[in-house]
Amino acid sequence: MPPRFPYFDSPTPPTSDLHLHGTFIDFPTPTSLRIRLDTEVTISPSGTMTSISPPGREFWAHHSIPFPPTNHSRIFLPGFIDTHLHAPQYPQLATKTDLPLMEWLETYTFPLEARFADPEFAEKVWERLVKRLLRNGTTGAVMFASKHVEATKRLAGTCGRFGLRAAIGKVCSDRNVPEGYMETREESLRGTEEFVKWCKETFKSAEGEEEGLVVPVVTPRFIPTCTPELLRGLSAIAKKHSTRIQTHAAESLDEILLVQSLHPIHQRDISLLTRHHLLTPRTILAHCCHLTDPEAKILGQLGTSIASCPTSNLLFAQAVLPVRRFQERFNVNIALGTDIAGGHSISMLSAIRQAGLVSRVHGFRMMSEHDRSVRIPEMHEEEQYDRLAREGEVVDWVRALYMATTGGAVAAGWEKVGVFEVGMRWDAVEVDLGWDEGEAGEKENVVAVEEEEEEENGRVDEVVEKLERWWSGMGGRRV
Ligand SMILES: [Zn+2]
Repeated sequence: MPPRFPYFDSPTPPTSDLHLHGTFIDFPTPTSLRIRLDTEVTISPSGTMTSISPPGREFWAHHSIPFPPTNHSRIFLPGFIDTHLHAPQYPQLATKTDLPLMEWLETYTFPLEARFADPEFAEKVWERLVKRLLRNGTTGAVMFASKHVEATKRLAGTCGRFGLRAAIGKVCSDRNVPEGYMETREESLRGTEEFVKWCKETFKSAEGEEEGLVVPVVTPRFIPTCTPELLRGLSAIAKKHSTRIQTHAAESLDEILLVQSLHPIHQRDISLLTRHHLLTPRTILAHCCHLTDPEAKILGQLGTSIASCPTSNLLFAQAVLPVRRFQERFNVNIALGTDIAGGHSISMLSAIRQAGLVSRVHGFRMMSEHDRSVRIPEMHEEEQYDRLAREGEVVDWVRALYMATTGGAVAAGWEKVGVFEVGMRWDAVEVDLGWDEGEAGEKENVVAVEEEEEEENGRVDEVVEKLERWWSGMGGRRV
């Protein structure tokens, strides 16, 4: 299967170098953005960036440096990486989120996933899903397919055909799922190994990459639906074939209580996953909203990443991930996911915005604790609130974009994407920051209107401001 290029519309790879001129912005750390104005990036026919020139023309956020006028409205960002989504739940996107997690699975989700026994039905859904992901700027996705090997293969094939970088797993469960969606441990293990081998064989590595565009992921659904024997077997397959692993952990209160009742001795997801050697530097755990600090510390030490899904967590988890505490205290890599269809939207831009909004909830909690018990008498009341707000958990837009790009690449183990560097793959989205739909539908340049009244403070600041407006939903459009 030939390599594909997410940025290009044409299915035919180019035959000569491509030169792109413009503004390139990426997020090398959770607290910084790097801006390259008036820069040319050269991309080889195989999709590798071979030069970024002129070299050294890099500015970092909030550096105010005057620059010659240029078209700063059109910029390139690294493609978004969605690190947690359930492909077969796409048909129920934005509906049926009215039940607690375990009931939701039983009532809506397992019966829907069972329909993917029909490869023709699966194929139709996969094509719609993959095209829509790409249209929304998602160029990489880590996905749960269904339990069916054929449907899972077809999802991989669809991603390859449309050029979506993907890590895909056949979902495994050998208990606590309805009869029509159950499988035995043997079926689960056999199917997983078959898919892993097929995927590695089918998607050979392109020039400049160590592995194919689509890679297999060993995927125990989550602790409540997997016996210890199945977990052990899946762990052995992951080790034997050096694959990634994905599952859910500490998602919601009903899930946590079920795990406790099934495992009275080990009680917790992290303890059980550790016991079965399923936590590795190539493991992604979805949600983790109810992790304890010692559990987060284990993830940091093992290099296991978290896929945070803020919209889904508001709907199902009864908790919000303390992103900054886990990042800063325990060195846990945290990426973002839409959790289709636990989340409402397929758009990573929506997940990015939600990450910022829901992080404020921690600030609310701290305020109320402050009201109850943590008053510091010598500080003026306003100062106390200010201090608590600063020490809170706010995820700003730069950090959220880092999680959706660089953090996602780290989680997925895609070492050649996420930032713009020579030798990395060209995997990007082009965004127009300057335009927005006016109320009557006509285009209006919201940034320009304000700039008539303002002194320009330097071109880099201008780009940063436009990017922040785009993130917050006020301006820009993806092109
Ligand atoms: Zn999930």
